[in-house]
Amino acid sequence: MNKKSVLVTGSSRGIGRACAIAFAKAGYHVFINCRQNIALLHSLQDEILSCGGTCTLLPGDVGDPSQVKSMFCQIEKETGGIDILVNNAGIAWFGLLTDMTDEDWSSLLQTNLSSVFYCCRAAIPHMVSVKCGRIINISSMWGTAGASCEAAYSATKSGIHGLTKALAKELAPSNIQVNAIACGVIDTEMNARLNEEERAALAEEIPSGRFSSPEEVAELVLLLCSSPSYMTGQIIGMDGGFI
Ligand code: NDP
Repeated sequence: MNKKSVLVTGSSRGIGRACAIAFAKAGYHVFINCRQNIALLHSLQDEILSCGGTCTLLPGDVGDPSQVKSMFCQIEKETGGIDILVNNAGIAWFGLLTDMTDEDWSSLLQTNLSSVFYCCRAAIPHMVSVKCGRIINISSMWGTAGASCEAAYSATKSGIHGLTKALAKELAPSNIQVNAIACGVIDTEMNARLNEEERAALAEEIPSGRFSSPEEVAELVLLLCSSPSYMTGQIIGMDGGFI
């Protein structure tokens, strides 16, 4: 395949889906992934094909190291490896830390942070061998600022920030850039629990006065794929001025 390829984890909906479509429109072969709603992955495939793009379905739980290994075996067979990795899959957990069970904590950590480790570990050897690659981690402004009733979620995103900075140093000699986007409030299913009143109150707190669309985040992800290679190890805010 002479197209560049990208894996977008958690791409059945929300930010991941917008990224997958933007990459397909930009001429990349896109590996699309989610864990549960495979029907949505099929509808994404239809959408990508209808805009003249190409993709491969790669269902699997990125929080499970053996499933990530299988996913990368398939990638290797098809393209030899990926040029770009977008670690986007994530889940939220709202509530008091004291109400959190060990299972809630583990599931959040596996999905939001360990997944980034598993996917990076699998993607890096090919990138090193071709001395080129980009890793973009989708994080949150709460990883910097911390959010009340989202302590564990904030911790997973802070973990991504540390991993991004350290890995950028490790991979810069191989010409691989590692950056993270610290998102503010993005209009996706992750915020579906908010009612109209809560949405309006939250929007008022944001200097830009609104939520961002997933497409705007995708725009920034694509921008980071063509940024100067000297730009690495950065946590880029996409929060309407919130932080
Ligand atoms: P959505 O809930 O809309 O989408 C999450 C995606 O991840 C879905 O495709 C889901 O599919 C997939 N997913 C979840 N768990 C796994 C897993 N274990 N393995 C593979 N895929 C998985 O979320 P958003 O688009 O809003 O969020 C995307 C990223 O952006 C997350 O990392 C989130 O933390 C971050 N973010 C979002 C913000 C927001 O306001 N929306 C703000 C800050 C950061 P399925 O359930 O079928 O597996």
